[in-house]
Amino acid sequence: MNNPMISYDVAVIGAGPGGYVAAIKAAQAGKKVVCIDIKSTPGGTCLNVGCIPSKALLCSSHKYYEALHEMANHGIDLGSVSISLKKMMERKDRVVADLAKGIMSLFGKNGIQFIEGRVSFIDSHTLRITSGSGVESSIIASNIIIATGSESISLPGVVVDEERIVSSTGALSLQSVPAKLAIIGAGVIGLEMGSIWSRLGSEVIVVEYANQILPAFDKDISKEAKKILSDQGLSFTLNAKVQKAEVRDDKVVLSYEQAGESHVIECDILLSAIGRRPYTNGLNLEGIKVGVELNKIGQIVVNANFKTSIPHIYAIGDVIAGPMLAHKASEEGFAVAEIICSHVPIINYNNIPNVIYTHPEIATVGKSEIQLQQENIDYKVSKFPLTANSRSRANGETSGLVKIITDKKSDKIIGAAIVGSGAGELIQEIVIAMEFVASSEDLARICFGHPSIGEAIKEAALGAFDKPIHI
Ligand SMILES: Cc1cc2nc3c(=O)[nH]c(=O)nc-3n(C[C@H](O)[C@H](O)[C@H](O)COP(=O)(O)OP(=O)(O)OC[C@H]3O[C@@H](n4cnc5c(N)ncnc54)[C@H](O)[C@@H]3O)c2cc1C
Repeated sequence: MNNPMISYDVAVIGAGPGGYVAAIKAAQAGKKVVCIDIKSTPGGTCLNVGCIPSKALLCSSHKYYEALHEMANHGIDLGSVSISLKKMMERKDRVVADLAKGIMSLFGKNGIQFIEGRVSFIDSHTLRITSGSGVESSIIASNIIIATGSESISLPGVVVDEERIVSSTGALSLQSVPAKLAIIGAGVIGLEMGSIWSRLGSEVIVVEYANQILPAFDKDISKEAKKILSDQGLSFTLNAKVQKAEVRDDKVVLSYEQAGESHVIECDILLSAIGRRPYTNGLNLEGIKVGVELNKIGQIVVNANFKTSIPHIYAIGDVIAGPMLAHKASEEGFAVAEIICSHVPIINYNNIPNVIYTHPEIATVGKSEIQLQQENIDYKVSKFPLTANSRSRANGETSGLVKIITDKKSDKIIGAAIVGSGAGELIQEIVIAMEFVASSEDLARICFGHPSIGEAIKEAALGAFDKPIHI
């Protein structure tokens, strides 16, 4: 320990969307704040290897796909079209680097000290910070926020080397377009990565243990997504139990069992996308002088105010229970800073949207039918297809639908799903309606601009309490 100990009002461990938002909010309220991250750049998983690089590549690959397959329909002849994967990756890296610089400048503007290093607890107020080169220092903080996020998991028998068998991190930095890409897991990350590489020319096969893609979603949404993505060239092997993956020469051989029979897939790259787990490695939470409690699946246990079993130590984001989403982490970051500054925060977990950035996008909010059935709630479903929406027709993007779920008695909107171009933006209209406890009639009586895809929301809402006009 070389440095004298500096003390802070708030120390934030992890500079992801949970941690950096908490740091800024606490500093805005006048607290002396330090934010520490293993990485030299802030932004966490979301900015460095998650939301942002994936969306940058989804955007680039979609433009290429449009140039190859869709521009001609608009009467635009682009001649021969080719890609430079190197330039595409450089653009993605620039987007990430620019946004990281933006967070650093926000830290500077708000007087937040950013330290690069790995944190472990010495006691409940004292943190050891070990830099990449092994130099140790320590700090003291009155309040500590753990925002250390999550890491990807893999199956036994599938060893990720980030070269031939990759996690999402490796899949975002491949040096060449694999001729054949196999993906374990048809969840959000598997489908987004599959979309990127399929558009760039890979043959993509997705192997899923469940009997539907997007296992956590309602069947009709999963069915629609499977139809659209299959039309785009992705293929799906469902009810398949992966046994192992082996690298043989320049190929990866994936073995799985389906209906009692063994099968193999030979591919160039295998992506393991089966999920993520909370990351608390090396924090020394189990240390006698710290004693922060973890649950069976490794999440830090917190109360409604994000307090761990030690009242001045808080935890937020992927490292605690709830959906592993950047905006959920940020809302909690904002809220925990307010709590530390004695304000009363509000987060409505039911109204946190979930977006999958395939093309078209898939977005949901509130309860699914599966959840409502489990909770014995009487509900009504109304669906409106985008084929009947004039803007979707004009844009040539008619795949998808709007689905609104209402409480059968009160007509209150309790859930919604949109499959369609721009669904990630459109869902926000329903999130706002739900936040204001709107009924389907309230939503349907709002005037939507014409022609707009939003009119499909109005029509679905009309269908929930009356009849839609256009079907
Ligand atoms: C490929 C991919 C795509 C995704 N796309 C989306 C999306 O489109 N939308 C969405 O909402 N979510 C998306 N996510 C999920 C999103 O990235 C996470 O939910 C979000 O980053 C969680 O934020 P967080 O602040 O809790 O943790 P993280 O962003 O994981 O940040 C935690 C930080 O803590 C640091 N850290 C860990 N341990 C220590 C330690 N001991 N000392 C110091 N620092 C430490 C880590 O280095 C990291 O920077 C995606 C994830 C992936 C992998």
